[in-house]
Amino acid sequence: MMNTPLTIPPMLERAERYFPTKQVISRTLDKTHRLTYKDIGKRTRALASVLTELGLKRGERVGTVAWNHHRHLEAYFAAPGVGAVLHMINMRLSADHLVYVINHAEDRILLIDEDLLPVIEAVQDKLTTVHTFIVLTDKEQLPESTLRPLYSYESLLEKGNPQFPFLEDLDEHEPAAMCYTSATTGKPKGVLYSHRGITLHSLVQGMVDTTALSENDVCMPVVPMFHVNAWGLPFSATFYGATQVLPGPQFTPQLLAELIENERVTFTGGVPTIWLGLLQVVQKGNYDLSSLRAVICGGSAAPKSMIETFEKKLKVPFFHAYGMTETSPIVSYSRLKSHQQNWDEADRFNVRATQGMAVPLIDLKGVNENGEIAWDGKEMGELLIRGPWIADQYHEDDRSDQAFRDGWLHTGDVVTIDEEGSIKIVDRTKDLIKSGGEWISSVDLENAIMGHEAVLEAAVVAVPHEKWQERPVACVVLKEGQNATKEEINDYLAQQFAKWWLPDDVIFMDQLPRTSVGKFLKRALRDEIVKAR
Ligand code: AMP
Repeated sequence: MMNTPLTIPPMLERAERYFPTKQVISRTLDKTHRLTYKDIGKRTRALASVLTELGLKRGERVGTVAWNHHRHLEAYFAAPGVGAVLHMINMRLSADHLVYVINHAEDRILLIDEDLLPVIEAVQDKLTTVHTFIVLTDKEQLPESTLRPLYSYESLLEKGNPQFPFLEDLDEHEPAAMCYTSATTGKPKGVLYSHRGITLHSLVQGMVDTTALSENDVCMPVVPMFHVNAWGLPFSATFYGATQVLPGPQFTPQLLAELIENERVTFTGGVPTIWLGLLQVVQKGNYDLSSLRAVICGGSAAPKSMIETFEKKLKVPFFHAYGMTETSPIVSYSRLKSHQQNWDEADRFNVRATQGMAVPLIDLKGVNENGEIAWDGKEMGELLIRGPWIADQYHEDDRSDQAFRDGWLHTGDVVTIDEEGSIKIVDRTKDLIKSGGEWISSVDLENAIMGHEAVLEAAVVAVPHEKWQERPVACVVLKEGQNATKEEINDYLAQQFAKWWLPDDVIFMDQLPRTSVGKFLKRALRDEIVKAR
């Protein structure tokens, strides 16, 4: 067989050649752009030529500080196309972490959205490797800024070469992209994604038993483009020639509902918070979501009640997926096997609420102090993963040895695996609650509480206890205009859990603290509760 390398440029070239008129619909600060893949191809090549002119060398990093829009998509292909690495920066990191990731990645050029210039201006004196700043803006004139030298993206593109050829001698193992984990403890850890890993990951996204993304789809990644490459969707949607809808800066749930209705979005992906927000607005307003054939939810556990509401009330197919920054990210996807499709409704939703089976080419197992866990849906162990799009180290980081051992990624997620091979994330190792020598899953409790009709969201944390070592405490946000007491919540939980699982306390809050990618910041909650006692 031929050994043609699996690299990124052919993905865009395919869209240019076979789908030149298909559209990328992109919302920016000033307007909504409608570009074809032919346009995107030319602009990406022009950007590739500009980056080369600006002195970018093979293997060097280009950082983006940007929302989901067409210019970011162009950078996704231009940087790898010249053998450089696109580093997608999470603009919500603390100033310290922002400086750390830019310097650690040794970014040379930064592409920055106009409204995010202040984020970089605030730390510019501490950046040691960046030599050029480019502002992503629709405006003709450069905005006021202290960044130097600062260029306008569109002016540079006008001078660029729209026929610029991508490198032909790329090695599939070369790095193409890079993201850092959104650390809640310690410094963020960098993960490099290879051309090969991204290509194979994109192929699996298109498999019918996975997300079945295809040319027929109108794909709207709501997950930020800095969060594990927007789960790889911009790469795979381009590869397949799907129409893309990029929702741009500071979107609201209303705006997402409007985009779904107006652009007839068929496929979208994001974290549970996004879908919770969307549920709130679509249950009040009158939006047509009938075009949706798949909403993909991951990043945190999707409560079963949310999956049921989407499917039963809104008639929108809702899928649960699992992955992490280290895994590109897709590891598992929850879909019913053929024989499960005849099961009772309750059993079907129980399967759908798990994180599903490993996708093809991914191998996983659970391990605890007694060795590999049984696939019985009961025994708990740490999830270990390996496969062609799983990182084998962190970028220049001596913490690599903790996570990558014996050929496996040690995820820090605790799972059970059932007879069908479906994994259920029980907790992060550090969030599991150890009460009287027994484990309580904070995720199980949270999901159950979120099934209560008065509850909007809930996080459960372990609080130190003299006798029992740790006990669960629930922090609950109620839906607008709804009421519930601690006793009501615990009575509700008592229908599903043993008495010793019930939270010692239920604290009602206006909102829950979140990480920069929308997950509950449990450490902050726990610290707050401990301090208040
Ligand atoms: P990140 O690297 O920010 O994508 O975070 C990865 C972590 O998010 C995983 O290690 C899990 O703890 C959590 N996670 C991702 N997807 C899910 C899911 N579907 N259910 C529960 N936890 C998830």
